[in-house]
Amino acid sequence: MAQEGCDWANLDAIWISHFHLDHCGGLAPFLFGTKYAPTTRSRSKPMKIYGPPGLKDLIAAFDSAYNYGLLEQPFPTEIVEIEPGKQFDILDGVKAKTFSTPHTDESCAIRVEDESGSLAFSADTGYSTNLGVFARGVDLLLIECSFIADKAVQIHLNLSDIEQIARFAKPKKIVLTHLYPEWDDHSAPSEIGGIETVLAVDGVNILI
Ligand SMILES: [Zn+2]
Ligand SMILES: [Zn+2]
Repeated sequence: MAQEGCDWANLDAIWISHFHLDHCGGLAPFLFGTKYAPTTRSRSKPMKIYGPPGLKDLIAAFDSAYNYGLLEQPFPTEIVEIEPGKQFDILDGVKAKTFSTPHTDESCAIRVEDESGSLAFSADTGYSTNLGVFARGVDLLLIECSFIADKAVQIHLNLSDIEQIARFAKPKKIVLTHLYPEWDDHSAPSEIGGIETVLAVDGVNILI
């Protein structure tokens, strides 16, 4: 975030989609950073960390490895565990809803919207028509596309899965993320089912 010039010290809320390390492993070093960085010393605004049930235990487990005190921050923090299918206000004026995805027991996609627009993030997921219904009409669908064609496992997506999900979701724009190494030598499709598509590579800027 710092490298890309994002205002990381003022981050309002964090969503943890599930407990695989590639989705939550950054949380502990981030909180270790906010605890000690000069940039956050004068912050008083609260930070909320949302995620599936079990999130409190996960952070406690990180803490117990070395008494980090990850929640003893210069500013107030709150961990909020969200059941699948729940609607809640992730921030004032920003509505959110979760959807249980076929990936791990706790994995959840999230849809957020305010008066300026809407975004759905698939988290990690296997194929689900209902995920497409959940994301219907969003401005931006940020969706995992681990594989291009052949799937080694059923708990992730490939391009043809996304084509199918996009038929139900009909988003304005698709961003493919969670790209496995086979994508390294593969260029992005410019559209999926007629919908503009880009790859979520490092440093990409997306306007919606
Ligand atoms: Zn995962
Ligand atoms: Zn993952």
